Amino acid sequence: MQYFSTNKKSAHVSFREATLKGQPDDKGLYFPEKIPQLSQDFWQDFAAKSKTEIAFEVIKPFVGDSIDEETLYAICAETVNFDFPLVKITENISTLELFHGATLAFKDVGARFMSRCLRHFSKDKSEKTIVIVATSGDTGGAVANGFYDVDGVEVVILYPKGKVSRVQELQLTTLGKNITALEVEGNFDDCQALAKTALADDSIKEKVFLTSANSINVARWLPQQFYYFYAYQQWIIKNQKSKIKNPIICVPSGNFGNICAGILAHVSGLPVRKFIAATNANDVIPNFLKTGKMEEKSSVVTLSNAMDVAKPSNFVRILEIFENDYLNLKEKMESVSISDETTANTMREVYQNYNYILDPHGAVGFRALAEYLEKNDGAGFFLETAHPIKFDSVEEIVGTFGKIPGSVNELLEKEKQSIEIKVDYDSLKEILLKKV
Ligand SMILES: *Cc1c(COP(=O)(O)O)cnc(C)c1O
Repeated sequence: MQYFSTNKKSAHVSFREATLKGQPDDKGLYFPEKIPQLSQDFWQDFAAKSKTEIAFEVIKPFVGDSIDEETLYAICAETVNFDFPLVKITENISTLELFHGATLAFKDVGARFMSRCLRHFSKDKSEKTIVIVATSGDTGGAVANGFYDVDGVEVVILYPKGKVSRVQELQLTTLGKNITALEVEGNFDDCQALAKTALADDSIKEKVFLTSANSINVARWLPQQFYYFYAYQQWIIKNQKSKIKNPIICVPSGNFGNICAGILAHVSGLPVRKFIAATNANDVIPNFLKTGKMEEKSSVVTLSNAMDVAKPSNFVRILEIFENDYLNLKEKMESVSISDETTANTMREVYQNYNYILDPHGAVGFRALAEYLEKNDGAGFFLETAHPIKFDSVEEIVGTFGKIPGSVNELLEKEKQSIEIKVDYDSLKEILLKKV
């Protein structure tokens, strides 16, 4: 499999090169030359397949000969070593719980897969690999955990001081070993700007292999397809006796990488009736689907802060899947914006009525799906993208976090280790050069 750039000005590359480079020089996004189709054989005994088998068969054509089969199978097994339960909340709404992994968010899947690919690819490199990543909360933890103790790879995480939750901060700062957490006296955009400056700094790049682990990397984007298949496996079993056929899938979206992976799975053969992209007040895409025009806006701060994105970086891939056919896209995907007030009310109502605790991102998803089903028939599920304990607002709104996962209790015993820096590239550079 070869990948081209969505801006069409850079060379086609293999999966290996696309992973190592992250982004093509023309600043487009890597996209597979051909979307593979799942075979009849794949569907024949689908219900009986293990998570690892599904992951392996889905990802294999995308990886091509960049990784041998035995290694790829092992990478898949390590990536999906936790549960992805589909849990019924109301008569026609279920939740796909994606928070049972190491850092309690769906980003664990992409981060684990990518880290293991990089470990494999850096085996025959003479220089050290440094992964630099800016985070508003969930990405940093997932990447840190995914790369923890991976030989030959150092990880430097930049996070905005005072702007991540308690659990998120502990997930970033308590690992040690090859993980360094930098607490930046600024906001997320400052962190991202610092990381970008480093990634463009030739005086560092001549000494180490410096790369980013952000959500546009193909090795983070593509494995997110896996859990859509796991959901469908459970969906068929649960709906065997009913008339309901294909699910409506609602995805709380920020950079639109997660939903884009779902749509890709669908184009490869996964039965889905409709996708709903649920956003918070950052409503550029819902407006685009209404008007056909992409506005230039700044992001606004909301309760579901992992989705506070004004310019969704993965959306060009969705356009690419639909060959830029706006009407086709509208046929398959709807998008709605849910306000903070409605999000908080939804969290309270779902707790009171169904005894289920939603995190703010999941609440946006639940609500968007519920509103759709008020006007349309059918049934479906939304993706619960992170565990409620990761967001301090849940306790304020709902009054409880519910059952606290064991991993969180362990974290609370650990001590935070971070280096505070100002928004100043020289301080970052000094730290990076010490790792060489
Ligand atoms: C990252 C994240 C999202 C948004 O996912 P995208 O792929 O950027 O659309 C939603 N919810 C949570 C909890 C997240 O961490």
